Amino acid sequence: MTDTREQRAQSQLIKDKFPQNARFLFFEAVALVSRTELGGDDQLNMNQILEKMLHSILFLGNIHPAKYNPQDIFEKSYNYTVELFPGPFNRYRTHVPLQTPFSYFLELVLKCYGQNNEGTVKDKLFKTLKNYKELGGKKNPLISAVICICENGVSRYYGASLSCGSDTARKIMTAVSCVHVWHLKVSSAVMSVFPDGTGEPRSIKLPDTVKCSAYAVADMRKLKPPCKRCNQLYSLPDHTHHPNPPGNCAETEAISNFFKAEKHGNSRQTLFRHNHQEEMQRMSNCFDMNMKKSMDKRSVQNRDKYSINKVYNP
Ligand SMILES: [Zn+2]
Repeated sequence: MTDTREQRAQSQLIKDKFPQNARFLFFEAVALVSRTELGGDDQLNMNQILEKMLHSILFLGNIHPAKYNPQDIFEKSYNYTVELFPGPFNRYRTHVPLQTPFSYFLELVLKCYGQNNEGTVKDKLFKTLKNYKELGGKKNPLISAVICICENGVSRYYGASLSCGSDTARKIMTAVSCVHVWHLKVSSAVMSVFPDGTGEPRSIKLPDTVKCSAYAVADMRKLKPPCKRCNQLYSLPDHTHHPNPPGNCAETEAISNFFKAEKHGNSRQTLFRHNHQEEMQRMSNCFDMNMKKSMDKRSVQNRDKYSINKVYNP
């Protein structure tokens, strides 16, 4: 049973493209995987990414102000999807995803086309989004507007901006990423200004050989200058004067992937002189507070309990 408040939220958000975008992105991913024959462990790995992507969609739908159920999202393809991937449907009300659906989509594209084939990767993303634009709609929940490519010699590392469906969900996913996903150097930089945007930025510097370029997914020829926040946190030059919310930008994920792959020492001791435990607790509190914000609007029987430490990672 939905209460009147929920019905109100639902009607206000009637034009939200969340379910439509979720279906679109997921079935693009399914098509991509079924077209690619990698075999063996790689194939298994791709199916796992698909499962995680689906779980991320169901979770974000569940915590969305309009509370989209799996049936709302998948409509006629609901039964078919549950049959193919039962796991995510059993866990989306108890477990938290590690990444956004679009980040998983990007991961699949990289697995299929090879991450150092920058041209092909950009082309595939552009074509996907072109299909999407034909679906219409200005607001694009779940579809990242920007990707970033970190270049070091022949190697390429990618990231997408966080696209979660709402501001509250973005804060939840930023806290999760700081605790579980991003390289410690990047988490440390983001946490210095997250969630309030205040605080003294702990800035990191990339090696001189590394170049970071961000592109609007709608037009891959168009370079996007880094925002003021990315300049503060990652010392990126030629920035705009507008600071995006901490952790939001595609640069964050791309730089984190660069540090992870190139095995830049984590040196916890030096990085977390300022008390690692305390910062983790702060992330956990931020997660709980924003989750409460999502759940408090609902009738008691429609609330779910999540913990930042109970993540979906099959
Ligand atoms: Zn930025």
